[in-house]
Amino acid sequence: MNYELDHTEIRDAVIKLCADFPGDYWRRCDREQTYPTEFVAALTDAGYLGALIPEAYGGLSLPLSAGAAILEEIHRAGGNAAACHAQMYTMGTVLRHGSDAQKAAYLPGIAEGSLRLQAFGVTEPTSGTDTTSLRTTARRAGDHYVVNGQKIWTSRAEHSDLLLLLARTTPKDQVAKKTEGLSVFLVDMRAVLNKSLTIRPIRTMMNHSTTELFFDDMEIPASALVGEEGKGFRYILSGMNAERILIAAECIGDAKWFIKKSSDYACERSVFGRAIGQNQGIQFPIAKAYSQMRAAELMLREAITLYEAGKNPGEEANMAKLLAADASWAAAEACVQTFGGFGFAEEYDIERKFREARLYQVAPISTNLILSYIAEHVLGMPRSY
Ligand SMILES: Cc1cc2nc3c(=O)[nH]c(=O)nc-3n(C[C@H](O)[C@H](O)[C@H](O)COP(=O)(O)OP(=O)(O)OC[C@H]3O[C@@H](n4cnc5c(N)ncnc54)[C@H](O)[C@@H]3O)c2cc1C
Repeated sequence: MNYELDHTEIRDAVIKLCADFPGDYWRRCDREQTYPTEFVAALTDAGYLGALIPEAYGGLSLPLSAGAAILEEIHRAGGNAAACHAQMYTMGTVLRHGSDAQKAAYLPGIAEGSLRLQAFGVTEPTSGTDTTSLRTTARRAGDHYVVNGQKIWTSRAEHSDLLLLLARTTPKDQVAKKTEGLSVFLVDMRAVLNKSLTIRPIRTMMNHSTTELFFDDMEIPASALVGEEGKGFRYILSGMNAERILIAAECIGDAKWFIKKSSDYACERSVFGRAIGQNQGIQFPIAKAYSQMRAAELMLREAITLYEAGKNPGEEANMAKLLAADASWAAAEACVQTFGGFGFAEEYDIERKFREARLYQVAPISTNLILSYIAEHVLGMPRSY
């Protein structure tokens, strides 16, 4: 079965759009660590960043599979959707748990591109993966909340108007379960930037526009609270399946890019008077990565089917992300090896994609934590942490 036949028109249109942003565009952004503003604007103008927003709010009302197809094609074309993918999944939290007033106030602007919801502030430097131990607090004071604390790895904050923020509203020692007492806020950063909110960029091994945020008595209106106070952890978790699925689709796109590059070059490059692709030492890693990618694609399909049927595909979405990230990394390795020295040269884009693909072993959730989830929640083994 060929899953690329899904959403064919959208895929074709995304391929066409991406043709205007070839390797040298991404290389320049990467070299200068600049945000791919023109690419994100083109994607927004075409309506793709509002693909999952309901038509009633100006979006395209498309299912998650369409979002996955869009992101896969961007990566398959050699681009990097990390500059904007978060809008697709953070928006879901607002859609599912936000009030009618919040949806009416923000979703139309997000759908048309005049308002950007690209930043998602969960991770903190001290607590790391242990989210319920986060230290950022939001204290209610009359008609507003006062936020204090710090976030790390809040990507795209400098290129976003809104921030979806997870903060503790009730101290951990005053709640029955550590997952309680956390709340989600939709923060309009424009009102507080460079006053009580400081954004500090972090340079990374790939171009990711990631930052640290510092909140210093940051006042936000009480109306910024999403859903009920104290239930934020549940709201964030409810968006995780979509996040895992969309990231897996990007990894599948990366794997396809690496595999095509590798198999084409293996046929073209002649050493010792014959194509290097005639050597099984070159063929096998590429064939193996292809098999891994196809298996991951099947799991991704399973996760999407369950998600779109209204089920909770926690197992499948996590496994799809795990398998797809492994497949893209295996394909990246095979590609560098196939290209030999040229794999390290900037102009081939391989070393850039190699650096970009490495992230998905760690973020948005690390491979270890997915394996722990499967061990505990699927296989019934004791919790390890
Ligand atoms: C470029 C980039 C962009 C990011 N963007 C965002 C963003 O926009 N918003 C956001 O909130 N976060 C973001 N993150 C954070 C990302 O989600 C975390 O880095 C990731 O979840 C790992 O957490 P950590 O870095 O705190 O590692 P730690 O929690 O410090 O863990 C370090 C290592 O130990 C392992 N480990 C920890 N506990 C266990 C355990 N119990 N069992 C086995 N292994 C364990 C982890 O898997 C990891 O490999 C981003 C990160 C990066 C690098």
